[in-house]
Amino acid sequence: MKFGFDIDDTLINLRQHAFSIYNKNLKKEVPLDVFHKIKTLEIHEAFGLTATEGNQMWRDSMEEIYFTDCPLYPDALELLQELDEQGHEIYYITARPAEYCERTKKWVEEAGFPVQEGRFFCGMKDEEKIHTIKKLNLDFYFDDKPNVLETLTNESVQLYVRDQSYNQHVEMPRLTNWSELKDIIKEKEDKK
Ligand SMILES: [Mg+2]
Repeated sequence: MKFGFDIDDTLINLRQHAFSIYNKNLKKEVPLDVFHKIKTLEIHEAFGLTATEGNQMWRDSMEEIYFTDCPLYPDALELLQELDEQGHEIYYITARPAEYCERTKKWVEEAGFPVQEGRFFCGMKDEEKIHTIKKLNLDFYFDDKPNVLETLTNESVQLYVRDQSYNQHVEMPRLTNWSELKDIIKEKEDKK
């Protein structure tokens, strides 16, 4: 089967990583329980920053956020490796800016995720992901962002929202831990 994955906040815990980088660079100690309650994708409000300041902070911190030791979500790596070994096709579809694509691919590979040539897509806008996803004819696609998932609801791909505080209103199958994927696959195979 063909599996498509968003990367940030789907396979890796990027916002929380950014949150700790903001704390460090702003010399603050905003606690993690504040992070878990943020209802927006953006995290700047927790640091008392305006939207403009928050955008600037994100841009200034991007290198550090993207290319340091961002933690992977539990079981994500093991699961993707297993899918790869079983002969499933794994596609990555990330809307990270084009100038970061090559290094992102390298980072993902170095983290141990299986990346095959021609199966890493990057640099499109959120609302443009649909074009790649349609072309690939995926069986499954996993993402955290409501505005991405909402563009895909009329497609045949089976969508899953990766559970996050800011996507609770999205009504579609939800994945909270990557260990749940095994059962999802089993269910699909049993239906065949
Ligand atoms: Mg994401």
